[in-house]
Formats: sequence, structure tokens, C-alpha cells
Amino acid sequence: MSKKICILPGDGIGPEITAEAVRVLQALELGFEMESALLGGAAVDATGDPYPEATRKLAQEADAVLLGAVGGPKWDNFPREQRPERGLLGIRKHLNLFANLRPAVLYPELANASTLKPEVVSGLDILIVRELTGDIYFGQPRGIEVRNGERFGFNTMHYTESEIRRIGRVAFGAARKRSKKVCSVDKMNVLETTQLWRDVMNELAPEYPEVELSHMLVDNAAMQLVRAPRQFDVVVTGNMFGDILSDEASMLTGSIGMLPSASLDAHNKGLYEPSHGSAPDIAGQGVANPLATILSAAMLLRYTFSLEEAARRIEDAVRKVLAQGYRTGDIYHAGDKKVGTREMGDAVLAAL
Ligand code: NAD
Repeated sequence: MSKKICILPGDGIGPEITAEAVRVLQALELGFEMESALLGGAAVDATGDPYPEATRKLAQEADAVLLGAVGGPKWDNFPREQRPERGLLGIRKHLNLFANLRPAVLYPELANASTLKPEVVSGLDILIVRELTGDIYFGQPRGIEVRNGERFGFNTMHYTESEIRRIGRVAFGAARKRSKKVCSVDKMNVLETTQLWRDVMNELAPEYPEVELSHMLVDNAAMQLVRAPRQFDVVVTGNMFGDILSDEASMLTGSIGMLPSASLDAHNKGLYEPSHGSAPDIAGQGVANPLATILSAAMLLRYTFSLEEAARRIEDAVRKVLAQGYRTGDIYHAGDKKVGTREMGDAVLAAL
């Protein structure tokens, strides 16, 4: 079986960090074919299009896509259709990526990077599963118009039961590979759409008898995430609540250079990328933290290729280099071994 990965380095620190993740994937000798293409500002410079046809074709053919990051001040004043983010939205839409998975893991060695007390966050390991293509962000009708002599703004929240079911299945499936708990977050006391969300999650639960399902209102979930975050394993929620809660959860760890993400379609094809941006302020200096991208490669092995053991090998190697004291500038404290992007990649390879 040929297994093809499309590599999209993107802009800013993107090429530096994806190079390290590619080295890690190559070191595992799993027989992947990897091919690179342009996305974002780099693609605009070369072709005038942030998601050019050649990239579209490669992304379509590949089983998975590994992305660095896109964007930078150089393209900020370009026309809207030539902005790098257009490339990102374009590929997400083209590949029908409806499930966004964002783990928030706090490695014990980095416990003091969080703004919360170490005893509250140490050992944290949450996976936020966010629906990505529905909800009030895409619902019609929407707009701002004048009604009764004043401006009137409106949006529409809706979900079909099939949309809820497919994201529910992703969450239950992920929980099976973890601590077997799903907390579904809604606002069923006020919003009918989310009453349906809760009903459908309850209907799905019997198919996954080994997974324990609970429900929480979104306002309480926002509180619980900072009060006692370790109570959560997998959290599943809609697009808008997920947008907010996933950012809140990621900040529990305090280190943006450590956070991977995955966006999946209905057949486990996925786009894997670090949660951070292209960091133009440090681009080209060889100092960026490649660990979020390396951990994104681990997610790629787990979710697209079901290579759980290989995924764990990468995650264990990352744990090991942190335990050995290796730190890029973003997570460095006095007394640590300060390293650059390439040296961090070398350390992970050695730990593998
Ligand atoms: P950013 O995440 O790029 O940077 C925020 C801060 O974190 C910066 O100080 C940066 O140096 C630091 N940082 C980020 N990643 C790091 C890493 N791996 N190692 C060390 N330090 C790291 O966010 P921003 O500054 O708001 O955005 C910069 C550009 O990235 C913008 O053009 C924005 O549109 C784009 N962006 C892209 C994505 C994406 O491609 N998915 C996401 C967010 C922002």
C-alpha cells in the first residue's frame, strides 16, 4: 500500500519546523512517500494564488497533509483573495475537514509555563473535538440590515442530526484510544439546536459501551477548565463553543510552541498542523520550537494511518527530550539546555 503525505511548509517559520517533522517521519522508516507543495504567501509569490492548482491536486491525492503555518506582514495588504489565510480556508473547505482535534497536554517538565498552579494542571491531557463546518459560523440567513429605522444584526445557529452524529463518532472513537470519557458541551437550557446536540450524543452512546458520556453546559465547562481541568478526557462541542474552549484549553499549557492539531474528514484523511502561526518575528533564525509540528506528525500517524505505536514513539521521544532539559527559547528557563530548531530535531531523533 502506498501511503502519501503532502507536505506544505508555508511561510515564516513553517519551512524550518516542517523540515524537522519530516526528518522524524523519515527516521521511522514507515514507507511513506512525501511530496511538498506551496501554500499561503509562498504560493502567492510563486503563482499569484494562495492555494494553487498543483497544491490542490497533491492535497487531493495524498492520504494526509502536514502543514507548517501561513501568513506574514508581507502579504497583509494584498487583496483579500490573495491573502495567505485564504489558502488555509481553501484547503480546509476543499478537503471537507469537519472535525478539529486539539490536544492540550501539559508535560510535567513545563508545569511552570502555565499561569495556573502546577498542582491544578500538572499531568493535564485533554482532547478538544470541535465541529468545524457548521453551527452559527456558517448558518444562513445572516447579515446586518436596517429594520424599523435601526441597524439589525443576525446569525442563524443550526445543526442537522447527521452533522452531530459524525462529530460525535469522532469524539467517541478518539476516547476509545484514550481514557474512555467523553464530555459533550452544549447550552441546552437556552438553545434548541444544542438540545438536539445533547439528544443525538445520548443516542450514540450505546454504540460505545466502553466510553462514559457526560454533559456539561458551556458556561460551566469554561469554569471547570480553569478550576479542575484534569477531570476532562475528550470534550466534544460545536463550532462556536469549540472555538472558544479550545483556545482556553490550549492556554492551560502556557506554551504555544508545543500544541499540535488535526482536522479530519469523514474517511480519516487529515490536515495536521501546529496550533501556532508563522511567527514572522523569529522566522529564518533557526530558533523556532518544532515540537508542535513533530507532535502533529504523531497525530497524523495515529488518526490517518492508525499507527498508534509509531505515534507513541514520537510522543515518548518528545517527553524524553524535555526530561533531558532541551528547550527552545519559547519554553526556556535558566538552567535548561537552550537549543535551536535543528538541534531540537536532532534531540528528538536521538531519543527515537
Ligand atoms: P504566532 O502564533 O505566529 O506568534 C505568536 C507569538 O508566539 C510570537 O511571538 C511567535 O514568535 C511565538 N511563536 C509561535 N510559534 C512559535 C514556535 N513554534 N516557536 C517559538 N515561538 C513561537 O501568531 P501571530 O503573531 O498572531 O501571527 C503571525 C502570522 O501567522 C500572521 O500572519 C497570522 O495570520 C498567521 N497565523 C497563521 C496560522 C496558521 O497558519 N494556522 C495561525 C495563526 C496565525
